[in-house]
Amino acid sequence: MNNARTVHIKSFGCQMNKLDTSLVASALREAGFAFTESVKEADVVVINTCSVREHAEARVVSHLGHLKHARKHRPDMIVAVIGCMAQRLGESLLAHDVVNVVCGPGQIPQLVHLIEEAFASNAKRMAVADVIRDPEDSSSDALEQFESAYGHEGEEGRALRGQAFVRVMRGCDNFCTYCIVPYVRGPEQCRPPARILDQVRRLADEGIRQVTLLGQTVNSYQYRNGQKTCSLADLLGMVAEVEGIEWIRFVTSYPSEEFYDDILHAMASSPKVCRYLHMPAQSGSDRILRAMNRHYTAAQYLELLARARRIVPDIAIAGDFIVGFPGETDEDFQATVDLVQQARYRNCFVFKYSPRPGTTADKRHRDCVPDEIKQRRNVELLAVQEAVSERLSRGFLGRIVRVLVEGPSKKANVNPTDAHSHPQLVGRTATDCIVVFNGSPSLAGRFVDVRITETSPLTLFGVLAE
Ligand code: SF4
Repeated sequence: MNNARTVHIKSFGCQMNKLDTSLVASALREAGFAFTESVKEADVVVINTCSVREHAEARVVSHLGHLKHARKHRPDMIVAVIGCMAQRLGESLLAHDVVNVVCGPGQIPQLVHLIEEAFASNAKRMAVADVIRDPEDSSSDALEQFESAYGHEGEEGRALRGQAFVRVMRGCDNFCTYCIVPYVRGPEQCRPPARILDQVRRLADEGIRQVTLLGQTVNSYQYRNGQKTCSLADLLGMVAEVEGIEWIRFVTSYPSEEFYDDILHAMASSPKVCRYLHMPAQSGSDRILRAMNRHYTAAQYLELLARARRIVPDIAIAGDFIVGFPGETDEDFQATVDLVQQARYRNCFVFKYSPRPGTTADKRHRDCVPDEIKQRRNVELLAVQEAVSERLSRGFLGRIVRVLVEGPSKKANVNPTDAHSHPQLVGRTATDCIVVFNGSPSLAGRFVDVRITETSPLTLFGVLAE
């Protein structure tokens, strides 16, 4: 491969996708590519796509439209579409003028080779197989090797210094009726703990201080080896022993019966396990939860939160909701509002229902809630949460919090207490509170103590504590 070749990577979607982007970036770097921020200068453009919402796919289509113009100036440019949308749409994406390579998430170990082939023959290339059903499948093995080879690198894809994502499982077995993930990422498969630990140790050697263990339903992590079973709680204990790692997070948790107390006890007993739980509820209406194929009621969900708070009293909890699921009435929505008021989330994410072709909800139900109602419910639910978040934020006034510094703040937030000297930095507490303060950019990736002097619903402002 010619060393002068450049690649531009654009990534959409969730943390799983960001992690894939980071692996692909490492593989491309090893193959001799240099990275560029400019599409105009790129010999190769890789777009890592997301299919979770219609809007995410629309953004990719619009991006492909922009690339058509870039292609006029760079006729030899190779465009590779990877990720969930590549898996879902396969050949039809290849029919798009500007696309040369289509590669599903299960085939990313082949990506460099596909790009090389596209360069050599000027022909279109595709690697999209059925999602891997069998852990013994050779593609599954290739994915594991790819992850092991590049999972400790990926500086290009790693947005934040001192932090890294580590996948502990792939896929999902839950088949929530609105969700495309089980179709494009396949069934749940847990990675061996030895491989995960090896990766974490290598990350720690590189200076990583916080790892986030990733899985679609991470609390159901279980790896069986003969008579022995390693659970998420066991894994947290093992990762906590890795020297250099100071904070461990895990996302996303599914609020099932299977939310074992041992995970909460691991959190309560280890100072390294962050006291933070991201546990989507999706709705507060039992009728809608049934239609979504979520296996709990609102009361069971709230009981789980109460249990978490009994075991870990200062735990911070975040939720996700979908508004406007087919058939959601005003009463159903009110039940969701009630749940948000009772849940005392630190933060919650609200999405408007968007039908995904191929999912059960799309096959069975018409997308019948008008967009203006979805929009209104979205705004209303966020306002309810904002009032809760504001109350919780005010409780931090005057306190000193430990923060892992991410880097310069992207938003031009004005710190009312210290507008001079150093630029604004942003970081997060172990409980995922965003903290803005003034300090030297060299603090990125390090832990500091910040005294909180001002608050807004989602941000704490402060000054570096002595
Ligand atoms: S738990 Fe449900 S929403 Fe989450 S990835 Fe699995 S099917 Fe999708």
